[in-house]
Amino acid sequence: MALHRGLNIITTLKHVSIRIYLYFLFFLFIITFGLSMFVLAPLYKAAIAPNARWRDLNVLKIWPHVYRVIWRSVSNKAYRDMYPSKLTDPPKLHNNPSEVRIKDSWQGSKDNCDACKLTCCAQIYCPMIDHKGRCLCYGSWYFGYLYCGRHPENQAQMDLYNCPKWEMRNAPQEDIKNTQA
Ligand code: SF4
Ligand code: SF4
Repeated sequence: MALHRGLNIITTLKHVSIRIYLYFLFFLFIITFGLSMFVLAPLYKAAIAPNARWRDLNVLKIWPHVYRVIWRSVSNKAYRDMYPSKLTDPPKLHNNPSEVRIKDSWQGSKDNCDACKLTCCAQIYCPMIDHKGRCLCYGSWYFGYLYCGRHPENQAQMDLYNCPKWEMRNAPQEDIKNTQA
């Protein structure tokens, strides 16, 4: 029991440390006007796109995009509130199937969004997509701890990008079914 609790504390401390580290990298980016991303490029790459090839990273597009993301997060409270996360939260590589489900009208694969006509990634002009349409950040700390891994996990996120695939489960009805089962 004590060992289990100790391991939980270590895991939580790890999540907190990684989040603080990511925020620190973005803070450095802001105060150096992006220079830190060039000077400490291996650190930024390891945190954001560890598996990407250097030649696939378009720094001239990434630089303004980071500013866009930071500005939207800092200046728009409604946007911030759409992506609630605590320092202690574990990373997520997908949304929670007990809270969301795929719409009956979705024609594409369950496992990817390839059938989406106007992806949320394209709507925000994200430069982290390679020439085959794959996310260069997938699986990274940035992906799991900040926005993308958990997207979309609530109605506001689905509405923001007019998502054709996901919808929220009707929690009260599910609860009733579970109670009756
Ligand atoms: S808008 Fe929805 S379906 Fe389209 S890429 Fe984003 S999450 Fe996938
Ligand atoms: S999931 Fe989309 S928005 Fe997020 S980093 Fe990857 S390409 Fe960009």
